[in-house]
Amino acid sequence: MIKKRKVLLILFFSFLLLSSQPFAQQRETRPVTLEKIAENLYQISGGRGANGGVYIGGNGVLVIDAKMTKESVDQTIAEIQKITDKPIKFLVNTHSDGDHIAGNPFFPKSVTIIAHENCRKEFFHSRRDGKPSAWNEPELAPYVPSLTYRDKMDIYLGEKKVELRYFGVGHTKGDTVVYFPEEKTAFLGDQIFMGRPQLIHSYKGGNSFAHVKTLTKMLENIDAVTFCSGHSDPIDRNTIEHHIQEMMSIQEKVKSFVEQGKTLDEVKKEFEENHARLVESIFNEIKNLS
Ligand SMILES: [Zn+2]
Repeated sequence: MIKKRKVLLILFFSFLLLSSQPFAQQRETRPVTLEKIAENLYQISGGRGANGGVYIGGNGVLVIDAKMTKESVDQTIAEIQKITDKPIKFLVNTHSDGDHIAGNPFFPKSVTIIAHENCRKEFFHSRRDGKPSAWNEPELAPYVPSLTYRDKMDIYLGEKKVELRYFGVGHTKGDTVVYFPEEKTAFLGDQIFMGRPQLIHSYKGGNSFAHVKTLTKMLENIDAVTFCSGHSDPIDRNTIEHHIQEMMSIQEKVKSFVEQGKTLDEVKKEFEENHARLVESIFNEIKNLS
């Protein structure tokens, strides 16, 4: 009886998250695959939800982000078991968006879920539509991150070190960079969007001006050459620098329209339609500053 209720809850909860996340990956679902990035390090592609990562350490496996459905998590675990018999020890949620965390309940209970302390708080925030978070349900408590950090956390998987780094507010208030120093690779979650405007979740405390500072600080502080992210192929440092420049030029443009006294709707009309959400965030940020 209890089990049935739990299954129903999870299904309901998955539906809520699915219905609020219009990401391309959810429309056409490719099977989950692991793409090799470096020795022992893979990008998780396909399935329902964002791209993630898998690191095979000396004595266990670390997974980055959780996909959204039981099917995709089962596929992810099956793919991992094809390349190693080491247990999955850690799951890192790079931030609190549904396409990165909704699969948490489908990982074994023995897996330790880790996130930035602000990300953990965001699990319990009301959703964008004002409805309460499904993570308040006691049945889901074991799948909320149980380990958090503030600035930096080192995780050793045998000899191998993985660094969780926090560089500040940006896409949300709790975005983690998962940095593999030896492999010169970092997983950024949604701190970078390619081929579509950057998402800034103002309702979670995200901020575009802080985003520019945070990405700049990240480039100054880590020595990665390859950057994996939730919704695009791996990119290099130059592409991130270009992304920062692009954001700054959109901000400058919005600023000059605000100075001309234009309303939000008028400013939105100056940009392509798909920029509306980003422009709105920037507009509100400028208005609050002035
Ligand atoms: Zn995402």
